[in-house]
Amino acid sequence: AVLELDQVINVRDTVQEVTIIGSGPAGYTAAIYAARAQLRPTLFEGSVAAGGALMNTTDVENYPGFPDAVLGPDLMTRMRAQAEQFGARLIADDVVEARLENEVKEVVDSAGGTHRSRAVILAMGSHYRELGLPNEKRLSGRGVSWCATCDGFFFRDQDVVVVGGGDSAMEEATFLTRFVRSVTVVHRRDTLRASKIMQERAGRNEKIRFLWNREVMDVLGKEKVSGLRVRDVNNDEETDLPASGVFVAIGLDPRVDLVKGRIALDHAGYIAVEGHSTRTNLDGVFACGDVVDHEYRQAVTAAGTGCAAALDAERYLAALD
Ligand code: FAD
Repeated sequence: AVLELDQVINVRDTVQEVTIIGSGPAGYTAAIYAARAQLRPTLFEGSVAAGGALMNTTDVENYPGFPDAVLGPDLMTRMRAQAEQFGARLIADDVVEARLENEVKEVVDSAGGTHRSRAVILAMGSHYRELGLPNEKRLSGRGVSWCATCDGFFFRDQDVVVVGGGDSAMEEATFLTRFVRSVTVVHRRDTLRASKIMQERAGRNEKIRFLWNREVMDVLGKEKVSGLRVRDVNNDEETDLPASGVFVAIGLDPRVDLVKGRIALDHAGYIAVEGHSTRTNLDGVFACGDVVDHEYRQAVTAAGTGCAAALDAERYLAALD
C-alpha cells in the first residue's frame, strides 16, 4: 500500500529511531554516539538509580583521561550530562517488557506505555550473585551486604567476612580494612581466581585472613548477623564463624530477564553477539557492555562496546532507508 504523506509523517513521529535500555557506561556512550548521529535516542535509565555499577564505587583509577582518578558517581554524572547535552532523551524508568522480533520494536515502561523504535540497544549490565540461602535474604541490610563501598562504614571496628575468591572479593576485603577490625575471606577452593595484583594487595594486608576450602551453609543471626556456618569441603566438618557483617562477593550475572526466551544467549547466559560486532540474532537489536561481556567487565570496555552498538545501529538504520 502507498502511504499518504501525512501518514508517512505520522509513522515517523511515533516510531523513533533508537531506544537504549540501561544507564551504565555502555548505555550512555551508545546515547552520546546515537545522539551525535542525529538519531534522537531515547534511553531508559531504570527507576532506582541511574548510572549503573560504578555508582557503587569510589575511586576509579583506570578510566583513561583521569590521571588523578575519578569518583565512580562523578564519572557517571559526566557521561549522563554528555548524552543529554547532545539531545538524548533520558527516562528515569524501567523497561518491563521488550518485543523485539518485528521490524518495529516495542518496549513497555512501568506504567504500561509503549515506545516504538526501529532499533534497540540492550545495555542492562549485570548484578551481584547471591549465595541462595534463605537467611541471606532475611538478613540482607541487617549485616548481609553486596557492597563494601556502600556499607563498610557501618562495620567500624567489627569483624566481618567476605565470601568469594575473585577480584571483587579481594577489592571488597581490602576496602573494608579501612573500617573494620578484621576481614576473613571465606573461599570454597584453596586458590584464588583473583588477579595477581589484587591477591598480593590483599595478602599483604594484616587485617585480612583467609579461610580456604569452606562452603557457606548458613548465615546466622536473629535480628542481625552474628556469624556464618561453614563446611570444610574436605571433611564435611561444620563450624560457626562469628562475624557481624557478611559481604557476598561471588560474582555477577547478566541482567537478561527482560529478553530471556526472546533473544539468543551464549553458553554462559549472556546475550550472544555476532563476532566482534554488537549484532544479536534479531535484526535491529544490538547489545553492549556487561550484559554481553563475561571476560573484561570494565567501564572502558563497556563504553567501547556502547560506541560500537550505536555505530552498528546507525549502519542498520541507514541500510533500511
Ligand atoms: P551497568 O553499569 O551495570 O549499568 C546498567 C544499568 O542499566 C543499571 O543501572 C541498571 O539498573 C539499568 N537497567 C537494567 N535493566 C534495565 C531495564 N529493564 N530498564 C531500565 N534500566 C535498566 N570498572 C572499571 O573499569 N574500573 C573500576 O574501577 C571499576 N570498579 C568497580 C567497582 C564495583 C564495586 C563494581 C560493581 C564494578 C566496578 N567496575 C569497574 C566494573 C564496571 O562498573 C562495569 O564493567 C560497568 O559499569 C558495566 O557497564 P554497563 O553499562 O554494561 O552496565
